[in-house]
Parts: sequence; C-alpha cells; structure tokens
Amino acid sequence: MADPYQVTLIPGDGIGPEITRAACRVVEAAGVPVEWQEVVAGSDALAEYGTPLPDHVLQSIRKTGVALKGPVTTPVGSGFRSVNVSLRQALDLYVNLRPAVSIPGVKSLYHDIDLVIVRENTEDLYAGIEHMVGPDAAESIKIITRRASERIVRFAFEHARREGRRKVTAVHKANIMKLSDGLFLESARTVAESYGDIEFEDRIVDNMCMQLVQKPELYDVLVMPNLYGDIVSDLCAGLVGGLGVAPGANIGDEMAVFEPVHGSAPKYAGRNRANATATILSAVLMLRHLGESAAASQILSAVKTVIREGRRVTHDLGGSAGTTEMTDAIIHQLSNNE
Ligand code: NAD
Repeated sequence: MADPYQVTLIPGDGIGPEITRAACRVVEAAGVPVEWQEVVAGSDALAEYGTPLPDHVLQSIRKTGVALKGPVTTPVGSGFRSVNVSLRQALDLYVNLRPAVSIPGVKSLYHDIDLVIVRENTEDLYAGIEHMVGPDAAESIKIITRRASERIVRFAFEHARREGRRKVTAVHKANIMKLSDGLFLESARTVAESYGDIEFEDRIVDNMCMQLVQKPELYDVLVMPNLYGDIVSDLCAGLVGGLGVAPGANIGDEMAVFEPVHGSAPKYAGRNRANATATILSAVLMLRHLGESAAASQILSAVKTVIREGRRVTHDLGGSAGTTEMTDAIIHQLSNNE
C-alpha cells in the first residue's frame, strides 16, 4: 500500500469539528490513505496557548504542505488579528480559489452556474494597516503591489488553461482608485498579453455584481484584489444556493490550505445540524491538489447523488438529516459506486 499522505487538520471553532470530521470520514471511505496531523487554532488555542494561531500550527503546515481547515471564529474588535488573514499572510498563500458551480437539487436562482473566483489573499485593505486619526476618524491603508497583482493574475490564467476555460475577467474600481486599482488593472493587462489563447476583459466591481446577478453565464474565471474577492465570492456562493455548498482553497507556491467559504455558524455548533458539503467539496479540491483525481471525482459524484435524491440532506438543503446522517449517505453512495 502507498505511504499515507501527511495532512494538517485544523478542526476550527463552532461547527468546524463536526464538518471536518465528516470530510475526513469521506476521504477515508474513498480509499485515500491520509495521516491527519491535528492541530488547534481559534478559541481553544487562545485559551490554551494565549494566541489563536500558535506557531506549531504554521510549523505543521510548513512540514506537510497541505491542510484541511474548519472555520475559525474571529471575535470582532478583540486585540487579535483574524486567524485566517494571519495564516494566509504568514504562509504566503496568495491565492484564494473559490469555485461556484451549480449542484442539481440545491435550491437556487440558477442551475447552470460554473464560475471560478480567484481572489488575491495577502494585501489590499487586509494588510491590517489601520489607525485612528484623532478621536473621530479612522484610516485604513489599501496596499496594492505590481508583484502581488501580476502573480494572482498569472495564477488565474494558468488555472484557466489547466481547466480548459475560455475567459479571464479582471475586476477592479480603477475609475475611482486610479493608483491602487489602476496598478492592479495595468498588471492584469500586462500578464494577459502572454496568454493569447484565453480571452481577457475587465469590469468595474459594482457593474460586475449586477452582471453576475443578471447574466452569470457570460463569465468564467474572475480575478480580483482581496476585498472585492471576499464580497464577490459570497455573491457567487449565493448564485449556487448558499454558503453550505461553497468550497475554497488558499494556495501558495509551496503550501495549500483547503477550507469552506462559510464561517463557524456558532448557533449550530455541536447540534449535528451543519451542512458538511462545503468542507467535503474543499476536501475534493485537496485531493485533486494531491493528484488523487479519481477519488475526488468519486466523492463529487456521491455528493451530487445524495443532494439530487434529497432524502438524506441537512436542513439548509430542505431536508431533515443531521450532519452525520448526510455524511453516512455520502459514504454509502461511495460504496455503491465502487
Ligand atoms: P457564517 O458563515 O458562520 O454564517 C452565516 C449563515 O450561514 C448563518 O445563518 C449560519 O448558521 C449559516 N451557515 C454557515 N455555514 C453553514 C453550514 N455549513 N451549514 C448550515 N448553515 C450554515 O458567517 P458569520 O455568522 O458571519 O460568521 C461566524 C463566525 O465565523 C465569525 O466569527 C466570522 O469571523 C467567522 N468566519 C470564519 C471564516 C473562516 O474561518 N474561514 C469565514 C467566514 C466567517
């Protein structure tokens, strides 16, 4: 038997432990040998180590190169930076990849969405440079660099090529932020010149949002700075039926962390109510990253069958199954497909 993959597992907060456990069970049922290196980040880590992101979490990911992560609660206004932002910056996971693909059986406005959002993950207003200007004004600094802009746009084109996609759209607000977003757009245009086989266009972010709601079929791969990416990717999750089915990946040149788009949904924590699909689909992205494409396709197919049948799905998908029962159904389907 092949050596098991070493993968860092961060269960996270709220519903995180339940949905990551579900994803681990599905990966195991698909026959991929994985040795999970479990580490704690978030509120438990804060209680135990005095920081929500202890150094040994970063060290584990540096060693394994791959992590599956549950959502982590970020207390608003506390002294700690978001674990997610810190993790992405510390490991230079400069790509946030969020596919938004319709799944038959999930209630949504559209049934044929197939979009990929490529969000820059390390700079923009997320650089964390903020200060008060006197008692009644605050200032946040937006950082855009040519290096980060060119590498994220290059990733978008390479991804489009790998996946046989036809078009890359750069999203910006260069009409107002002429220097920062202007630099992003200029960088995108420069990179696009090297990819004559793929169509390139740009859209202003507000117009982009309207177009995505009215004519999503016109778009394919969207690439944008951090803040617009955060917002537009949730909009696209809404186009395919919501956060419960939206997977994501944070990718750098050396490492990758796979996690659902949604947060820790504290109201469902420990209640066997959460939908684990987004985390299971994040594990599908992880398996593709590891070169386990056959297992990834089998899991995707099992998830789609269970959702299409609609008998053993969670509340947010219109059913009455718990997290565990829906996971059992996916695992059962995997064994039927063998
Ligand atoms: P959220 O995604 O946790 O919840 C938004 C809504 O969707 C809620 O109604 C929630 O119950 C529902 N929901 C989310 N995931 C679900 C699932 N898998 N199954 C069923 N219902 C689901 O967003 P929020 O309430 O804004 O954030 C809660 C916490 O999560 C905050 O502390 C936030 O900072 C954090 N957060 C973390 C991440 C991450 O770790 N990657 C991402 C987003 C938010």
